[in-house]
Amino acid sequence: MKTNLIIAIDGYSSCGKSTLAKALAARLQLIYVDSGAMYRGITWYFLENKIPVPLADELDVLNYDYSEILQPVEIAFQINRASGRSEIVLNGQNIENQIRNLEVSKWVSHVSAIKEVREKLVTIQQGLGKKGGIVMDGRDIGTTVFPHADFKIFMTAEVGIRAKRRFQELKEKGVNTSYNEILKNITERDYEDTNRKVSPLRKAKDAIELNNTHLDENEQLEFVLKKLEQKNLIETRHLTK
Ligand code: C5P
Repeated sequence: MKTNLIIAIDGYSSCGKSTLAKALAARLQLIYVDSGAMYRGITWYFLENKIPVPLADELDVLNYDYSEILQPVEIAFQINRASGRSEIVLNGQNIENQIRNLEVSKWVSHVSAIKEVREKLVTIQQGLGKKGGIVMDGRDIGTTVFPHADFKIFMTAEVGIRAKRRFQELKEKGVNTSYNEILKNITERDYEDTNRKVSPLRKAKDAIELNNTHLDENEQLEFVLKKLEQKNLIETRHLTK
């Protein structure tokens, strides 16, 4: 396998990016970083501390010093020994459970449109990938964070399917929500993420598109592993468990 491999996975909301990224990381023994969790973490911090969040048309009008607001914020990941999962820690507090609620989901695309927020998180993300051996998923990984990544995937799926999968997932976790509320949130986030000024969601020119509307998790993993092997980035033995 290529040493210091960097795999970037971008795409629309609730496309299964993190599921695929985790499976790839497990198979190839790479580190997985969920960049969305970092934007969610900052959003949680803004909501907790009642920091005003500008809407798209207010971005240039609100005169807050976001650099100063963000200065004391430290973000890291820690492994949960019981589940083996990586969880987000903000200023020493594990906030993994708090960042997935609908309130954070409603605001996160607005917070992530703030230039200073992106600058701070991109710097941390690039630091995490400095030694390679990493799979990172998000919206701007292949375009901004790692424009020279070895391998880039851009994920899409029909919005109705995405909402259905997400609704199912939240229902299983006991979150009280509706399919329509999820569909609205996904549609709005896609719009905000694609239309923001700084690092909008785009397919990198050299990214491979993966539409998973009709593919299960295993088929997606096999698809990506095959492509990696064709590019001589992994060996044939990685194709089978
Ligand atoms: O990946 P997830 O859906 O948890 O990301 C939440 C939000 O964080 C996205 O809707 C987007 O607004 C923002 N995000 C981003 N850039 C990234 C990752 C996430 O702007 N690299």
